[in-house]
Parts: sequence; C-alpha cells; structure tokens
Amino acid sequence: EVYYFRNEFLPKEDVRISPEDRGYYFGDGIYEVIRVYKGRMFEAKAHFERFKRTALAVRIPLPDMGELEAALQELIRQNAVEEGSVYVQMTRGTAPRAHNLNADTPPVVMAYCQKLSRPVDKMEKGIAAATVPDTRWQHCDLKTLNLLGNVLLKQKALDQGADDCILHRDGSVTECSSSNLFIVRDNRLVTHPADNLILPGITRNVVIRLAAELELPVEERALTVDELLGAQEVFLTSTVQEIVPIVTVDGKAIGGGTPGPVTQKLQQAFERLILA
Ligand code: PMP
Repeated sequence: EVYYFRNEFLPKEDVRISPEDRGYYFGDGIYEVIRVYKGRMFEAKAHFERFKRTALAVRIPLPDMGELEAALQELIRQNAVEEGSVYVQMTRGTAPRAHNLNADTPPVVMAYCQKLSRPVDKMEKGIAAATVPDTRWQHCDLKTLNLLGNVLLKQKALDQGADDCILHRDGSVTECSSSNLFIVRDNRLVTHPADNLILPGITRNVVIRLAAELELPVEERALTVDELLGAQEVFLTSTVQEIVPIVTVDGKAIGGGTPGPVTQKLQQAFERLILA
C-alpha cells in the first residue's frame, strides 16, 4: 500500500510521524474523504473547496492545491484503485506541546487510497438509528481531526443495538455521526440548514441537486425529533455511504420499516450520476 507523506510516495511502513505532531497532541488538523469511482475522484472540486475553507478557518496554511490534487490522482494510480476512497489529512505540523500557534511549523500532509465497495446491502435494506443528544462543539461545519465527540456519540447508539446515532440539539435534529440526515414528508425533503451545527456534506449537496432535477422540493430548516419520528422516510448521506435509508429510529419503524420510494428514486439518480 503506497502512502503520500510529506510530498513523497512511500510504503505505509515507511511513514514516520513525530510524537510532537500537533495532530497527535491536539487533533490539530483537518481532513477530507473523497470517493473514487472508475478510477477518478468524485466531486473533487467540492472536496478541495471544503478543505480550503476549513484550513482558512483553523489557520493552517494551504499547500499548493494543484499539486495536492495531482498527487492524489497519482496515489490512486499507484494503488490501482478503481472503486474506493482517498483519505487526505493535514496537521499543523510538529512543535513542542504548547497551545499557542507557531507560524514556523510546516503542515504535515498525509494521504492514502484504498479499495472500498459501495455499501450495497445497507443501501438496499436500510439501517437502524438511535436518537442521541448532540454534545459536540459549535464548529461542526469544520472538517477537523477532533472527532472524539462523533466517536462517543456513535458508540452510544451502538451500545443500544442501533447502527448509528441521529443527533439532536435544543430540540432540532442535526446530523448523524459521519453523515447528514434527510426526512421525507409528502414528497418534500427536509434537512438541517448548512450552518455551524452540521458538516456541509458534499453528498448532501449532490442530493439537493438531484432533488431539484426530480422536482422534489427541499426545505433546509430546523426539524424536530417528533417530525423525525413521524416522517414517511428517513435517510442519511455521506461520501462513503452514499444514500442509506434509516428504517427504524429508537426501535420505531419508519414508513413501515422498509426503504421508501423517494429514497429509492434518489438512490437511482445518484447511481446514474456516479456511473455516468
Ligand atoms: N457529517 C459528518 C459529521 C461527517 O463526518 C460526514 C462525512 N464526512 C458528513 C456529514 C457527510 O459529508 P460528505 O457527504 O461530504 O461525506
């Protein structure tokens, strides 16, 4: 397995990370996960734009983005991946442990590319979710390495026998542990606005675009837990999972406990897009 690390392509075993890397001490870094279909990055431009936005927000200087994109394409080629994902992260770099930012630490970029099938079984059958209070910080729009909140909240749902959590804060449903959430009601989609309380998902945006093509109205607004439980359909979206129906919430069946027609229509449109 070939990794990209500090501007070099090298075997995973040869990647050497300093114990003083700020990513290791503070989770002080950012990342992206990009899907690879037919050997090419899907929605690459949108992922790089989000990477740039997060870097700016957390004040990590950007590498040459043209070079980075070329390096990731080369990584896909060297690993011979047709269907998979690229993970790329950038930490603030290496410095003795101290909270203040030090302008002299060059960022450390690391990336790998792996084969990864589409989760066809989950896409067809759906998953179970449990509602969990969203105790994360107020910058959920930034794709940073600080994922302990997401990790612990997902585990809460797993401990209850569900597959993922649906998070809610102050009465509103935000998103899932690593995906965005939509409900369907009377042929309309409802999803949380892309503010500081959710990650502005690339797949979320693709779905909003596909909905427009299918003439399905989309409402980006706060949505209550009661609306969620009373929805005709519920689904999540993410780069890795694509569009996955949620067929039970807190043990209660949604829309009869099977994937609904609107979700399936969107899944078909998504598949046409990625296989085009
Ligand atoms: N929300 C969170 C918290 C996530 O980690 C992810 C996965 N990156 C998403 C939403 C979905 O975003 P995307 O569609 O860009 O993968």
